[in-house]
Amino acid sequence: MEAPGRATAAALAAMAAAVRPGITTLELDAIAEQAVRDAGGEPNFMMEPGYHHTICANVNQHVVHAIPTDRPLEPGDIVSLDAGAAVQGWHGDAAITVVLPDPARPELTAANERLSYVTEQAMWRGIARLAKAKHLNEVGAAVEAYVQAESDYGVLEDYIGHGIGRSMHEDPHVFNVAMPRKGPEVKPGLVVAIEPIISAGTIETVIEDDDWTVTIADGSMSAQWEHSVAVHSRGIWVLTAPDGGAAGLAPLGVTPVPIP
Ligand code: MG
Repeated sequence: MEAPGRATAAALAAMAAAVRPGITTLELDAIAEQAVRDAGGEPNFMMEPGYHHTICANVNQHVVHAIPTDRPLEPGDIVSLDAGAAVQGWHGDAAITVVLPDPARPELTAANERLSYVTEQAMWRGIARLAKAKHLNEVGAAVEAYVQAESDYGVLEDYIGHGIGRSMHEDPHVFNVAMPRKGPEVKPGLVVAIEPIISAGTIETVIEDDDWTVTIADGSMSAQWEHSVAVHSRGIWVLTAPDGGAAGLAPLGVTPVPIP
């Protein structure tokens, strides 16, 4: 799964380099598709029945599964970009959030940057917990505890992480909150997408008329960060990070180990 992880990372890096006010999410979608194909992959979101794009592009209160559009991005937008790739039948899935600063609205810019930062750090804390966990539901407990300690944001409960492998979405569920059960045992061979999805307001959502786009019900801003992470015999490796997650995990005392 290293190859689809690298292709997914390439798509996110290409979009991160291109995103700016004035570009549309359809243009970012084309950039991501090219990056995936250049890396020898196929866009796997297109393998989902009825979906025709490489990415989901979630702007502001649109939180997940939003279809790219021809609306130019604007200063003040907070945008999560979710992409995936398949190589030889194996899958990768990851997401970043990008804040477009608005010099005329510094408070909005700062609020969006804080929302993205807490969401990204929640993801890293979930990944760090996976490195030491006996059972998978420790991940969600770590994500929720961090978000609650750092903010009054809401952790969405209706949209969660997942196993990933021969298909993009597999068992087991990867919750982003504490659960009453321990969940499956964490052991070598487990590969999961860890993806906290956070709202600055309510966690209630609605699905738009396009049957894909999920919107925060009270219109609050939202953010999402995601990586696909492998558990192997010597540790964990973040498949969708070029450095295996080393930079994100170092402050948390976890060193990712390349897959033997
Ligand atoms: Mg996912």
